[in-house]
Amino acid sequence: MVTKEVRAKRSSVFRIGRWGVLLAVLAFSTAIGVLHQKVPSLRTVGGDGLCPFGGVESFWKLVNSGSMIQKIEVGSFVLLAGSLVLALFFGRAFCGQFCPLGTIQEIVGRLRDALGVRRVELPSWLDRPARLLKYALLLVLTLLTWQLGVLVVRPYDPWAAYNHLLSDELLTTLGFGAAILAASLVGSFFVDRAFCKYACPMGALLGIVSKLQWFRVVRDADACVDCGVCDRACAMNCSVSTSGAVTDSECIACGLCVAACPAPGALEIKGRAVGSRAVQPVAVVVGTLAIVLGFVGVTTATGDMRFTKPPLMEQVLDAQPASAAESPSASGGFDTSLIKGYMTMAEVSDATGIPAEELQHEFGIAPSEMSRPLKEMSSDHDFDTDAVRAYVAERIGGTYAPKEEVQGSEDACSGDQ
Ligand code: SF4
Ligand code: SF4
Ligand code: SF4
Repeated sequence: MVTKEVRAKRSSVFRIGRWGVLLAVLAFSTAIGVLHQKVPSLRTVGGDGLCPFGGVESFWKLVNSGSMIQKIEVGSFVLLAGSLVLALFFGRAFCGQFCPLGTIQEIVGRLRDALGVRRVELPSWLDRPARLLKYALLLVLTLLTWQLGVLVVRPYDPWAAYNHLLSDELLTTLGFGAAILAASLVGSFFVDRAFCKYACPMGALLGIVSKLQWFRVVRDADACVDCGVCDRACAMNCSVSTSGAVTDSECIACGLCVAACPAPGALEIKGRAVGSRAVQPVAVVVGTLAIVLGFVGVTTATGDMRFTKPPLMEQVLDAQPASAAESPSASGGFDTSLIKGYMTMAEVSDATGIPAEELQHEFGIAPSEMSRPLKEMSSDHDFDTDAVRAYVAERIGGTYAPKEEVQGSEDACSGDQ
């Protein structure tokens, strides 16, 4: 029989471990977004490139053409694969143990609790139909993106907005996303994890896959003392205290109900097999970390997943087969949209074959500035990245879209300009 002290200690270890992971992931993804916007010389990928839903959106294009939607990195597919495999073990553990957008909402909910404000629970006649909205969004956004080949969701994406909090883009191309982010945070102050419950298409996808999950929360009615603590601990308002096992696709496998249950053996995480042994909530934290980091670690080691942008020459070579297949005009020249603000004039010279001396003369830069990011040079020279694109297109031929068009497109990002 496990003593009360041991149970309390396990609960503390679980809570510390869970919050440690959640806050570390939030801090890391926030840093990635800030560095991408503000320190172009580091060439970090943007937050768009590390979102698993980007993998869903780009999946069809990848299958059909072998290329990804611009701004989607391999990292999005890696995180998508990791979160889906995770869902087969623990359900929506990506949501409950990893996702930084979920963490931000949970922090807001904790703030409300600390201020002594009661959480709001919508009446079921409104709550249940409203939760179907995220499934509709998953269907519509995925089909539209597959059809059009651009990130349809990006202007409305609260995570993209969060990653551009220090960027001009927040109030221009990401205005809707910023409004949805603000509404989600205000909403989460009253209704726990409001965006997760009603509007997140990634949560909807994981909810569908979680129907196959092996481990789930199981209640032993004989040990249960009907205190209702588990229901109050659940941010997703699952009916734990009246279930034999929590099979609700709204469950995010956070483990908080199990950690809060005061009755020994009443609420445990178990596999589906008869006689399966209980798994401690902290094991879900460790398992989540192991699976996600396993995917990230292996693909980083093989060079498929990157946290920094590759050189222009490499991007040109990667883009060539797809460009040639999709657009004869693209195959006939250089796609200047590949030239980004974090790249250097040396990279432009290398990839285009335009001599370094010619570029120095044309743009009035010193040889020592050939390795400065284009975006940095625009502050003390009379040209910007767009002028470099235009010159390359004129000089060697190729595709070129003026800056205004690039900024208005779904794929624009001020960190790249
Ligand atoms: S539902 Fe969406 S926002 Fe919420 S935790 Fe899951 S993936 Fe993140
Ligand atoms: S049922 Fe338990 S594990 Fe699932 S979301 Fe609610 S508190 Fe978390
Ligand atoms: S917290 Fe535990 S004892 Fe209380 S109702 Fe839930 S399962 Fe039963």
